[in-house]
Amino acid sequence: MDANILIVDDDTAIRDAMHEFIQMSGYVSHTAESAEDALGIIEAQPIDVVITDILLPGMDGLELTDRIKQTHDIDVIVMTGYSGDYSYEEAISKGASDFVFKPVRFEELLLRLRRVLKERRLTQERVHMLERLKRLSITDGLTNLYNSRYFYSQLKAEVERSNRYNHPLALLLLDIDNFKKYNDSFGHLEGDKVLVQLGQVIKSCLRAMDSAYRYGGEEFTVILPETEGAEAATVAERIRAAVEELRFNPVEDAQVTITVSVGVTEYIRGEELAVFVQRADKAMYQSKDSGRNRVSCLFSSQQGCGF
Ligand code: GH3
Ligand code: MG
Ligand code: MG
Repeated sequence: MDANILIVDDDTAIRDAMHEFIQMSGYVSHTAESAEDALGIIEAQPIDVVITDILLPGMDGLELTDRIKQTHDIDVIVMTGYSGDYSYEEAISKGASDFVFKPVRFEELLLRLRRVLKERRLTQERVHMLERLKRLSITDGLTNLYNSRYFYSQLKAEVERSNRYNHPLALLLLDIDNFKKYNDSFGHLEGDKVLVQLGQVIKSCLRAMDSAYRYGGEEFTVILPETEGAEAATVAERIRAAVEELRFNPVEDAQVTITVSVGVTEYIRGEELAVFVQRADKAMYQSKDSGRNRVSCLFSSQQGCGF
């Protein structure tokens, strides 16, 4: 691991000796003669660990530690004199990871540095693992869209936001037409390929704020924050048309098309989340009832989609 270490000491001899030692130990070493210099350096380049003297002209090592911990993910080791100087306790309370006494014994410093770097690596691995787990827990394994659990938690948050600020919020519900027949004709695996590609097409039709979910087996939902019904209907129509253009090859020499029925609705202020979702479902079933491969809208104004 190419760790970047920054040594902060106003004593040139100590600074140079430590610089050389840190480099010889296999790390990338940087130096600063004051806390102010050090803050400039950590803004300009990635630093993993700062080793700082406590007594410095201008801003001292404690304040430096405080400033670094408030703004950066950098570990700090402080250096302090023996005689009655308990300021290292204060340094630890400001977030320093460790301390060494002056005059610094290099072997001891190296041991402490290695331990800090090891803990740092373990912490980073733990953070990555938690992020991976979080991503897994909200993702549908087949389509890579969000899953239905995340749909409900996001919809709840958006409904709350819509109620609080009286902002529009729209919802699409899509269901593949005659998908059972596709599965029966070409097999479940070919059906799965359709689901994967559909997920990609839906995503490609959305704006940055919108989010797509695999709601059930062959059903998808799209949450459109800050969106009026009419605008949501346009997005729905774009998806419907894009799906219709897809060509699948479940068997050689065959080009099969797939269609979706879509329901569109907008949130009515104060209503229950379930009522909102049910209305999208109802709109989707209107599309099924009127022949499939179409977009139907159920808005509070009783207006249809306008197309
Ligand atoms: P409709 O137009 O009325 O929606 O007809 P449909 O055949 O799509 O509807 P139905 O609800 O009768 O059947 C849905 C089918 O979707 C059943 C199942 O074969 C298929 N399906 C559901 N989940 C999956 C899945 O994860 N993979 C695959 N390949 N097929 C699935
Ligand atoms: Mg269905
Ligand atoms: Mg279906």
